[in-house]
Amino acid sequence: MKEAELYIPIANGRVMCTACARHCQVGEGQIGLCGIRQNIGGKLQLLSYGKLFTGHIDPIEKKPVTHYHPGSRIFSVATSGCSWLCRYCQNWDISQRRKIEGFDIEPVQVPRLAQAQECQGIAYTYNEPSIFIEFARDIGVEAHRKGMFNIFVSNGYDTPESVAMMSQFLDCITVDFKGSGETNFVRKYIGIPNADPIFDTLDEIRKKTKIHVEITDLIVPQVGDNLEQARKLSKWVYDHLGPETPIHFLRFHPDYKMMEFPNTPVETLEKHHKIAKEEGLDYAYLGNVPGHPLEHTYCPECKKVVVERYGYDITGWFLDSKNNCRFCGHPISIEGKLAATVSEERYLPAYF
Ligand code: SF4
Repeated sequence: MKEAELYIPIANGRVMCTACARHCQVGEGQIGLCGIRQNIGGKLQLLSYGKLFTGHIDPIEKKPVTHYHPGSRIFSVATSGCSWLCRYCQNWDISQRRKIEGFDIEPVQVPRLAQAQECQGIAYTYNEPSIFIEFARDIGVEAHRKGMFNIFVSNGYDTPESVAMMSQFLDCITVDFKGSGETNFVRKYIGIPNADPIFDTLDEIRKKTKIHVEITDLIVPQVGDNLEQARKLSKWVYDHLGPETPIHFLRFHPDYKMMEFPNTPVETLEKHHKIAKEEGLDYAYLGNVPGHPLEHTYCPECKKVVVERYGYDITGWFLDSKNNCRFCGHPISIEGKLAATVSEERYLPAYF
């Protein structure tokens, strides 16, 4: 546990947390909605500081991130708790847990563990990382000292204060919309009033940081697959973040409290992809459909496959040393060189 930095005192011993857009007003002894930030004696304490719930090795493509250091091995970490209440969450056992559990670890130890596992970066993922951003920042600064990069897999429901802290250590963020951010969907299935703070966060990141941004949209069949909203989202990404921003349309599968819904039909994902292309986005992908041709990166100029994928694996690389298309020379907006392809997931040893 450690005192948080992102909060302000308000009246009568209460504090307002500024780590995420919920802006919980927390009275003495109370805990914010995420379950890990508590007002103790008029100070907001980050209860999960120095305590990770999980550590796991993933390919960067699993985040999903496809335009930043492709093929890298990533050490993925999480605490318990979350700022959202998604009824379909695949990681609900972590994110919806409201007990402070996990193993004790100092920030400096996390990059050491990651390097021992030959990882090139650290991802803060599985639950919303902005809720434990002070801990993530301290890990991330150490990671930079060791030449590693940092990635947030975030719902983007953040604040100017959390974005300012991200700028101290974060290299890449994939912001995860659900149901294209449509208001009725996010109210009913996520428990937030609207998606406006996500757009504000992305604007803030674009204007004030150099963080690499990718967009994800989980398409939930029947209730979160509105094509008009999908067009609005793609248009917004084009106008505010630029045509080279990668966008990933992910297939839903039933989980947690939404077991009655089917997997997203592949044709629905293809319709979303088509809309993104019509709105001018150069790099649109389908996710959770291994073997689909829209997992590949296509050159926007000559339309040839320049990065071929199967699931999380890179199976073909047709870029030159400067990440230009080998067929026509068009620059492809991928940061970093191809690392060794990760073909299998590995769990940490039992001592972890
Ligand atoms: S981080 Fe937690 S305590 Fe802070 S505003 Fe968000 S949900 Fe509330």
